[in-house]
Amino acid sequence: MKKGITLRFTISLLVITAILLTMLTSITSAVQVNRTSLIDNYLNKNESYSKKMAANANELLKTMQDNLRAIAVISGRESTMDRQLFDDLFQENTQYFNSIVVADHERVVQAISPHTTGISVGDKLTSEQSKKAVDIKKPFISEPYRATTGRLIILISAPIEDKNGAYKGFVGGTIYLEEKNVLSTMLKEHFFGDGSYVYVVEKNGDLIFHPDRQRVGQNVVQNEVVRKVISGQTGSQKVTNSLGEIFLAGYAYESSSSWGIVSQTPYEVIDKPLNLLVNRMLLFSLPFLLLILILAWWVASRIAKPLHTLARFSDEATLKPVPAENIPDIHSYYYEVRLLSQSVKIALQSMNRDLTHLRHEVNVDELTGLVNRRGFDGVMAGWLESNMPFALILIDIDHFKLVNDTYGHVVGDEVLRYLSRLMKLVASEEDVCFRYGGEEFGILINRSGLARAKDMADRLRDQLAITKSPTGQPITISAGISAFPAHGHSAEELVMRADEALYQSKENGRNRTTVSKAAQ
Ligand code: GH3
Ligand code: MG
Ligand code: MG
Repeated sequence: MKKGITLRFTISLLVITAILLTMLTSITSAVQVNRTSLIDNYLNKNESYSKKMAANANELLKTMQDNLRAIAVISGRESTMDRQLFDDLFQENTQYFNSIVVADHERVVQAISPHTTGISVGDKLTSEQSKKAVDIKKPFISEPYRATTGRLIILISAPIEDKNGAYKGFVGGTIYLEEKNVLSTMLKEHFFGDGSYVYVVEKNGDLIFHPDRQRVGQNVVQNEVVRKVISGQTGSQKVTNSLGEIFLAGYAYESSSSWGIVSQTPYEVIDKPLNLLVNRMLLFSLPFLLLILILAWWVASRIAKPLHTLARFSDEATLKPVPAENIPDIHSYYYEVRLLSQSVKIALQSMNRDLTHLRHEVNVDELTGLVNRRGFDGVMAGWLESNMPFALILIDIDHFKLVNDTYGHVVGDEVLRYLSRLMKLVASEEDVCFRYGGEEFGILINRSGLARAKDMADRLRDQLAITKSPTGQPITISAGISAFPAHGHSAEELVMRADEALYQSKENGRNRTTVSKAAQ
């Protein structure tokens, strides 16, 4: 039979599948849990960092406006600003402003420091934002704009009033957005090293600080987080930027300037710890996995082995009969296996019994209980093969037809059985009495020559003569004898010789024994 899938393989496969699925589940859930907590961590961290930065910016702006106000007070007192004094005041504020300017109510520059800005005393400031500063006459933080000098700047201003409180102009401090400035100094100090960074947008969504200076001035209002933060919200969320990159962002709104501060971490940073986690888990479970696999294989073998033995044996037993003592004893812990083994044993034993019985039936004549023609052929073939001498008597009842005709078939059968009994009586244990067919019989006489055979046939005739058959009368028989090796070497020859001799007996008047004359 084709081998197919064995029980051991199936059990092992089952165990391996179960283990792998368990591992997969636990790793997946561990990754899931860790991912969630990592995301939460980064969101929280970025939110609190953006809040802190918003608070810092608020403090900073306050200080910057206070300082400008102080300069405005001085400017209000002086009719013309002493150039040296103004330079000193600027020097004290270089950490906050890239430049400081004093302009009158017509925006004509009264003082400016440093002197490298490209604007001189007497120049008029033309920008929209400087006009706004004059128009509102109050402390003011401008939107980013291109100044007359071409620089992208933010202007923070404080109004100047004279002794009587009349508006004289303003003191403006600038932040050069595209150069090193107060914001970049404050924000760049904080660098996480994991790709996290901070950027600042003003109320229209223009970038006023970004670590990539190229992007300063760019409008990023399409970013979901930017929209939220400039509308005054503070919070955190996962967000995709304009370049399709995913970030975990925290954001906070700075109210005094209407700026939004966003601190964000690239989403991919959580992949690294997660990969590490998976690797660690795999590495950790590998020895256990191997151990369990070996154990599974062993257990599977233990379960499958008795069944395998049984199956192999049953397979063989269907091809040829197996003696009951050859049936293997199956020892197993498993009830089903023991039950199966017992059933196979019982089935085989009964099959063996049936076979023996059948073999017997096939070779025995039903009516007389003697060996039949087939059995006779078998015995003679065996004797011929073993090459030992033997003799054959063929017997035919005389005028048997008459018996049937006179007394009926039932009595006829009785006569056949009667003759059989007498044949067995005269033959010895090793001899084989058989019914050749109809009312013809015979005896195979073991290790014997013609003389003993003739003697046996005559003794049978004598017995018949002195005994009443079932008809009430004695019967007579005619017999012919041949012997091996004297009359031939094959079954056919020997039967033919005996038959010829039998025919001779009939010819010569029946109730007699004739030994074959045919010589070798
Ligand atoms: P012969 O002396 O020449 O042998 O005469 P016979 O009457 O015995 O002649 P034959 O051998 O031709 O007859 C055999 C008869 O045996 C024919 C058949 O009716 C009968 N017979 C054969 N088998 C059986 C049997 O099993 N039972 C009965 N009752 N009769 C049988
Ligand atoms: Mg006959
Ligand atoms: Mg006859």
